[in-house]
Amino acid sequence: MNKKQNITILGASGSIGQSTLDILRRYPDRFSVFALTAYSQVEKLGDLCMQFSPQYAVINGEENAEKLNKLLKSKGCDTQVLCKEDALSFVATHKDTDMVMAAIVGAAGFVSAFAAAECGKKILLANKETLVMGGELFMRAANTHHAAVLPVDSEHNAVFQTLPESVRHEMANGVFSGSLNDKIASILITASGGSFLHTPLNEFEKITPQMAVKHPKWSMGRKISVDSSTMMNKGLEVIEACRLFMLPADKIEVAIHPQSIIHGMTRYTDGSILAQLGTPDMRVPIAHCLGLPERIASGVAALDFFALDKLTFHRPDLQRFPCLRLAFDALKIGGTMPCILNAANEIAVAAFLDNQIRFTQIAQVIEKTMENMPNTTADNVADLLQIDKNARIAADEIIKKFQAA
Ligand code: NAD
Ligand code: MG
Repeated sequence: MNKKQNITILGASGSIGQSTLDILRRYPDRFSVFALTAYSQVEKLGDLCMQFSPQYAVINGEENAEKLNKLLKSKGCDTQVLCKEDALSFVATHKDTDMVMAAIVGAAGFVSAFAAAECGKKILLANKETLVMGGELFMRAANTHHAAVLPVDSEHNAVFQTLPESVRHEMANGVFSGSLNDKIASILITASGGSFLHTPLNEFEKITPQMAVKHPKWSMGRKISVDSSTMMNKGLEVIEACRLFMLPADKIEVAIHPQSIIHGMTRYTDGSILAQLGTPDMRVPIAHCLGLPERIASGVAALDFFALDKLTFHRPDLQRFPCLRLAFDALKIGGTMPCILNAANEIAVAAFLDNQIRFTQIAQVIEKTMENMPNTTADNVADLLQIDKNARIAADEIIKKFQAA
C-alpha cells in the first residue's frame, strides 16, 4: 500500500468533522491525523487530540489556547496548540498535510480552504459557502495549482460519482478543465424539503429555532439545519454546483425528494440518467472522498430496498421557500451577489437562532441586503472579504430596523 495519508481537519469538532473522524478510526494504517481545529470547544478538541495525537491543534483565542494547552499537558499529550489568525491556513498548507477536510461552517472557512487550494492540496470540500461566496476565484486557484476539489456535500458527491469518467478523473487529479457542459444534458440535485415542507404557510411566523434545527432526515450543525428548513441550503447548493462543475445555471435541476435516498443524478443526451443512492448519512460521501480511487467502508448500514415504501419527486415551491428564489436571483445577477446573499443569510440565521427575528424575516433580511448592496466584481480575496464584511453590516442594520419597527 502507498504511504499513509496525512489529513488536516478544519472544523473537527463539528458534525462533518466528527463523521470524518469516525471513518478515520477504522483506518489507522491508511490515514494519520496531522491537525485538528475547532472554534471554541476546548474540551471536545482536547478529547480528539487525546484520541488521534495530531501534531497541531488550532483553536480561536489566546484564552482557549491556554486552557487547551494545559489540558493536553496534564494528560501527557504533546500536540502543539496554535491560535494565531493565520493558524488555520498554516495547518491547511503545511508541507506534511496531504489532504484537507474543509468543514468549518460559513464564510469563516473561506480563507483556509483558499490557502489549501493555492498550495495544491487535495481538498475534501464540505464548506459549500466557500464556493458560494467566491467560487470562481477558488476554482481558478485550485486549477492553477492543481488542487483536487472533491465534493463532500452529499448531492454534489452523488453527481460527481455519476459524471463521465474523464471528468471524474480530471477532478480527482486537480486538472479539471471545465469540460463538462457539452458532455451531459444536465445534473439534478435532490432536496428533502426540510422540516416545513407541509406546514401551512400561515404557521411559518410561529416557527421557533428549536423547530428549525430539527431535520427530518439528516443530523447536521445548527446553521445548515436552519438553511435546510428555509431551503436556502438548496439555493447555496445550486450555486455550489455551478461553480464546482463549471456549468451554467440552466443545466442544474432541483427536485424535492422527501425520502432522501437518491442524492444526485446526471442526465445524458441519449436519455440515460445515472443516479447515486444511499442511506442519508454523511459518512457515505466522506468515505467516498477519503478512499478515492478506492472504496472504503463508511460504517453506514446497507440500504434495505425492501424497507423503502416509495421514492417521490416534485418541484420546489418558490412561494413557500423565498430563500431558494433569492439564491437563483443571486446566481443570475452574478458578480458578488452570491457573496452578498451568503453573508446576509449567515447574519439572518444567527439572528433567528438568537430569537432576534422571526423565521419569515430571514428571507426579508436577505432580500433587502441584496437590494441595498451594489453588485460589483471581486478579483482577489481581499476585495471579496471586504464585500462579505459590508454585506454583514448592511444585514445587521436591516435587522435593527426590523426590531425597531
Ligand atoms: P457544525 O456547526 O457542526 O461545525 C462547524 C465547525 O466549524 C466546528 O468545528 C466549529 O468549531 C468550526 N467553526 C465555527 N465557526 C468558526 C470560525 N469562525 N472559525 C473557525 N472555525 C469555526 O457544522 P457542520 O454541520 O459540520 O457543517 C460544516 C460545513 O459542512 C458547513 O459549511 C455545511 O454547510 C457543510 N455541510 C454539512 C453537512 C452536514 O450534514 N452536517 C452536509 C453537507 C455540507
Ligand atoms: Mg447537501
